[in-house]
Amino acid sequence: MLAEICGIDFKKQMVLRIGLAASEDTFCLSQARERLRMKTVIVVHGGAWAIPDMLAEASVAGVKTAARAGDAVLKNGGSAVDAVEKAVRYLEDDPAFDAGHGAVLNINGEVELDSIIMDGKTLATGAVASVRNIANPVSLARAVMQKTDHVMLTDRGASMFAERIGIPVADDLVTELERKDWELSNSYKDGVKTLFNTQWGHDTVGAVALDSLGNVACATSTGGIRNKMVGRVGDTPIIGSGGYADNRSGAVSCTGHGESILKVTLARLILFHMEQGKSATVAADASLQYMGERVKGCGGAIVVSSSGDWAANFTTERMAWASLKENVLHYGLNPKEDFTEMLK
Ligand code: ASP
Repeated sequence: MLAEICGIDFKKQMVLRIGLAASEDTFCLSQARERLRMKTVIVVHGGAWAIPDMLAEASVAGVKTAARAGDAVLKNGGSAVDAVEKAVRYLEDDPAFDAGHGAVLNINGEVELDSIIMDGKTLATGAVASVRNIANPVSLARAVMQKTDHVMLTDRGASMFAERIGIPVADDLVTELERKDWELSNSYKDGVKTLFNTQWGHDTVGAVALDSLGNVACATSTGGIRNKMVGRVGDTPIIGSGGYADNRSGAVSCTGHGESILKVTLARLILFHMEQGKSATVAADASLQYMGERVKGCGGAIVVSSSGDWAANFTTERMAWASLKENVLHYGLNPKEDFTEMLK
């Protein structure tokens, strides 16, 4: 294929193959290789909900930093899986978001975290649900994907596995702000009603990426929704709901009311629309509208197609998001917002 692009005849191809390429042909080959490299893309989100003004600046700053971290991985030739893991780790470490440090509390005042990661090249996936005391659940999910024969581990089993592979216990995930908000909040039901329309804290995080070899990946991580029942698992770690990645179409990471997202398998629904020829943004919009009409759920999604078309859509009041493609950083928080910055 490379030889065809360069217009190199058969004899020269043979010469190239046995490593005796003339310098001109080698130059041409590297140019062709360069042309075949995909333009990398990373998109991240920091949760779709009614983000209060007090958290707006920190949320936007957090997603911009995470997008740059993921982009740096891609620029250094890292894989889409490496990039989404890196970006999500940044967001998990940032207490402004409901994932890792800063996670919301369940009805008993405890942290229970969910996460998924998926490789669009092989459809390999790993997830963890209801894990406690793990600072970066996305990395534990990746270890489930790469080091076990399973797709998902929960609670005690996930902790045992984390210990076995040397992931340290984190005892400092609960922030003062969350403890206060939890004391003020009433019930999960009231929370959900208002969460996605008014101001109740929860900020799932996620990333999707396309690497230079044309592989896509997704990752999503969350503390879930405040006051959830002990053991409640939302959409985030469920394949096809909180995320999905397939090189044949693209990658998606979702956020919003988990029970609604689960009912419409939002991530897979978006990719289904893309498989039918819709653009990333039309597919995300149609699927979010469907979720609204069918189960009255609000949420958001970030999407990248295997050809580099990307989108960040939401039906909640706000969603912090950022993307980076060809050194242009896009970001926003309010509906229809799309700020751009050129990176050097
Ligand atoms: N989808 C998450 C859940 O229901 C919450 C969120 O996205 O904010 O657990």
